[in-house]
Order: sequence, then structure tokens, then C-alpha cells
Amino acid sequence: MLIKNDAAGVQAWSLACRAAGLRIGFVPTMGALHGGHAALLRAARAECDRVIASVFVNPLQFGPGEDFAAYPRPFERDKALCAEAGVDLLYHGNPEDFYPPGFRTEVRVRELGETLCGRARPGHFEGVCTVVAKLLLRTFPHRAYFGQKDYQQAAIIRRMAADLDIPAAIAVLPTVREPDGLAMSSRNAYLGPAERAAAPCIFRGLSAALARFAAGERGAGALVGTCRSVIAAEPAAAIEYVAAADAESLREYAVEERIGGRAVLAAAVRFGPARLIDNVLLEP
Ligand code: AMP
Repeated sequence: MLIKNDAAGVQAWSLACRAAGLRIGFVPTMGALHGGHAALLRAARAECDRVIASVFVNPLQFGPGEDFAAYPRPFERDKALCAEAGVDLLYHGNPEDFYPPGFRTEVRVRELGETLCGRARPGHFEGVCTVVAKLLLRTFPHRAYFGQKDYQQAAIIRRMAADLDIPAAIAVLPTVREPDGLAMSSRNAYLGPAERAAAPCIFRGLSAALARFAAGERGAGALVGTCRSVIAAEPAAAIEYVAAADAESLREYAVEERIGGRAVLAAAVRFGPARLIDNVLLEP
């Protein structure tokens, strides 16, 4: 496995692969890799000739007071996991390489980035889009892999790639979970034992709402309320939001509305220092 940390080196390598007619799969991450990342790497390995993974904790997507400094960076472990997963090139980026002095450009996807997590994290999705656009232009993948766990992020990136004519297919893979339902996340490492025991309530709440949806309930307020009440029963959980939104536009449903087409039920919940997110699709 090659390891590179500069844009020019990564670009040259990717272009040479393309010139040789090889299909490139790309998995962008912030490291602290877990089973969710491993699933993306496995899919890329199965579907592409060359696999690039990136590990870069992107300062642009963290707000003031968020966990940029605390974010786990176990690079030696990540390296071993990538090698084991058959990664060909590991791109270990650093802020100087991504944002040299004079850097001024930001990528913003209007509206999609302003609902759900975008409300509580102003500037977050601009940071994500800017770094992902740069990564896609450095790695030139035929296919880039993202997780449904970050549903809004994946929807925004798909829109961005289409709007900017970036010729990469955006694949979105199902959320990988712990046996008790908790979505795998690098931020689960922040959970103390009591918080870890409480955290599966997010998926329990989402699942309870999904069961009502499957039984025919279409009221947005009823579905959101079902999910909220399950999560709120855990004293360690502080709900930031639970919302139903259109699966494409991400427009949030008002409580009195009925869910019309494909929708996503999404939640962000804090457990002490950890802000965790999860979602389920509501497909009629
Ligand atoms: P991150 O390192 O958290 O920025 O995530 C990198 C990629 O892995 C993103 O596309 C995430 O959506 C995806 N991912 C993170 N957690 C999971 C999970 N539990 N299941 C599937 N994909 C995930």
C-alpha cells in the first residue's frame, strides 16, 4: 500500500491509473476507522481496479467549540486497517496541503445544507463540500463511496457532483451498526459506559417510528413524536432534533403534514460530549 500526503503526488498517481484504463474507487474518511468505513472499502475493492482511501480531519467542517482538536487520530491503526482492506493508495492529508495561504474558495449547496444538521452547524456542509470537491479533483475516482449514516451529507455531495459536472458516481451504502443497533461512528469513542449503554435509544426510537410508518401512519408529527419519546426516556440523551424530511430536497415536514413521497427520519442526539446522528428511510 502506497501512502501519500501531497495533492500533486495523489493526482499524478490517479491520472496514471486512469491513463492505464483502470477503474478507481475512492473512500474519503476522517480516520478513526471502524466497521462502517470497512464496508465502504470492501465495496470499493470489489467494484474497482484501484482503491484510494483518504484520512484527513478537515478543519473547515468543524465549528468554533466543536471537537476538531479532540477528534481521534489513531493513524497507525487506520493504516493497518486500510492495508488489510486492500487499499492501494492511502492519502493522509494535512491542513497545509489542503488550505495553503491564500486559499479562499468555498463550495455551498443551497437549501440542502440549511435543514437538519445544517441548522445547528452553520458552515459545516460548506466545509464538507469544499473538501470533498478538492478530494474528488485530486483522486479522479470513477466511483466514490459514502455512508447512509450521514444521509444529508451524501445527498448534498450527490447534488454537488451533479451540479459541478464532477464525473464520479456517488455510491451510498447502508449504515453499519453495533449488535445493539447503535450506528458505528468515530465519535462513539467519546461515550462513557453509561452513555454507551443509553445511546442505542436513537436507533430504537427511529425503529419504533419506522414500525408505525410500515403500519400505515403518515402523520409527520406522530412519527417524529414516537421517535422523540423513545429517545427522551433515556435521561442521558439530550435531543438536538428529530425530523422527517423529503428524501431528495431535505425539506422538513411540519408536524401537521402527512408524508407524501420518500422521506428520511433523522435524529441528532447528544450524550455528554458526543453528538451522534442516525436516520432511517421512510419508503412508501
Ligand atoms: P467519517 O470518517 O465519519 O467522515 O466518515 C467517512 C465515511 O464513512 C462517510 O461517507 C460516512 O457516511 C461513512 N460512515 C461513517 N459511519 C458509518 C456507518 N456506521 N455505516 C456506514 N458508513 C459510515
